Amino acid sequence: MRKEYLIAGNWKMFKTGAESREFVQALARDFTAAPGLTVAVFPPYTALEAVRGLDPKVRIGAQNLFYKENGAFTGEISPLMLRDLAEYVLVGHSERRQIFHESDEDVNLKLLAALQFGLKPVFCVGETLSERESGRTMDRIQGQLDKGLAGVNEEDWARITVAYEPIWAIGTGRNATPGQAQDVHHAIRSWLNEKAPGNRVKVLYGGSVKPDNSLELLAQEDIFGVLVGGASLKVESFSAIIHSGLTLLNA
Ligand code: PEP
Repeated sequence: MRKEYLIAGNWKMFKTGAESREFVQALARDFTAAPGLTVAVFPPYTALEAVRGLDPKVRIGAQNLFYKENGAFTGEISPLMLRDLAEYVLVGHSERRQIFHESDEDVNLKLLAALQFGLKPVFCVGETLSERESGRTMDRIQGQLDKGLAGVNEEDWARITVAYEPIWAIGTGRNATPGQAQDVHHAIRSWLNEKAPGNRVKVLYGGSVKPDNSLELLAQEDIFGVLVGGASLKVESFSAIIHSGLTLLNA
């Protein structure tokens, strides 16, 4: 598959609307669009309106959604509400799975709802440290893929991105080595090829990606982008990661 990169920044519960707007404007000044490069940020819900349509080089995603269109679900946001504000949406981020107890079944309902309303889900998978240390990484990932991506229609694969984020590497400063990441990415690619032959689903790596490790990670054969948490909160570091992608695309 020809290399293309999605460089995505998950801002978690950081940044007001005004801060988000200022960030997107500054980021857009820091890089030039290039074929094969997509840049997206995922601000909190409350900042989506402030960044909508600001600059075509910086695409917008939401961090979560509920799977119903509307109803008595206090505090939830539906895909119908999101589709005018965001192009992408994170589904199954490990913080949602762990802190908010989202099951594989919840995640699957959210993914299918996002697709139904025209959003592009970024579906996150990843193993815990104990699963890795006991040699159960691939079983865990395969289980998440089987359950989370169940029922996807043939024509919808084109809108899906998968993010491999080992839980032990998120926000810990301890990233997977490029080789460890590549092994899992290769297994995910094989799963995808079997499930949807000819698909062009991008598989991103996430977990303590920083300017100083992004080039080596992005250079791996089956890594088609990165999902960045902490280092996406500052224009300089996020832009440096984007420039790693640009360097490889121009090589
Ligand atoms: C994330 O939140 O998806 C993430 C990978 O965070 P960090 O880059 O901070 O590890």
